[in-house]
Amino acid sequence: MTINTIPQTSSPVVAQNTTPLLAVEHLTRSFGSVTKPVLAVNDVSFNLEPGQIIAIVGESGSGKSTLARLILRLLPASSGTITFEGENHTSSNTRNYWRKVQAVFQDPFAAFNQFYSVRGVLLQAARLVSGISSGERDKRMFEALLSVGLDPEEMLDKTPYQLSGGQKQRVMIARALMLQPKLLIADEPTSMLDASLRVSILNLLKDIRDKYGMSILFITHDIGQAYYVSDHLLVMYQGELVEQGKTEEVIAQAKHPYTQRLMADVPKLHG
Ligand code: ADP
Ligand code: MG
Repeated sequence: MTINTIPQTSSPVVAQNTTPLLAVEHLTRSFGSVTKPVLAVNDVSFNLEPGQIIAIVGESGSGKSTLARLILRLLPASSGTITFEGENHTSSNTRNYWRKVQAVFQDPFAAFNQFYSVRGVLLQAARLVSGISSGERDKRMFEALLSVGLDPEEMLDKTPYQLSGGQKQRVMIARALMLQPKLLIADEPTSMLDASLRVSILNLLKDIRDKYGMSILFITHDIGQAYYVSDHLLVMYQGELVEQGKTEEVIAQAKHPYTQRLMADVPKLHG
């Protein structure tokens, strides 16, 4: 199944030839032994276009985080390829790759020691970029915090335990923005937040896409959030992509029994 490109100002001929930002082809990862393998990700293929928000929805254990980790190159694939901006990145230099592909996870700050300040967290990201002046670094730090709706003066010296859950996740998004990435992978970024904060984080992701033209891969077990945030929807079930297409179309014409069951939850969103 092809995924349409975002409407562009250039001629249709040029738009058709646009290289996808990310092309995942036949990506597979198994765990466990040879005799009893667990196919966490099984022959997954899809394209992500510049500026597109794709949501991956699936129940717990369906392989979403494994897919995210494969695309982030935190985990090697058993087989298949990852092409980014037309270049095969299945086994390239990760440092270069991580400047362009950043991530936020479910548990903000999990990777940071509790004594790190917001400044420390943001500066740590800037280390991936060589040749950046301290002036430019500070400028990016201020811009990144403002972009996520936080006041830099108030935030920079705070430590994680002085922040609310929503503020922590905003800082992690700001950290990703420090690198001005082309793709942001967000793996269940709202699942530790109160329901009231979730929509504000989803709106923030959409604002960031609009402001920077960044692509976003948004991972969730919640079809409602996927519907709210995405242009395209991929449904994962037991390691496989069972559905993919424009969000509205997938929701209107779910084919796989698992997707049909998921869709039973959609009306609640509008209730
Ligand atoms: P999701 O993010 O959709 O909940 P995961 O990608 O975390 O799913 O897990 C998919 C499957 O792969 C599960 O059966 C899980 O137990 C298995 N799995 C994930 N990571 C590992 C690992 N490091 N070692 C063994 N099995 C794993
Ligand atoms: Mg997961």
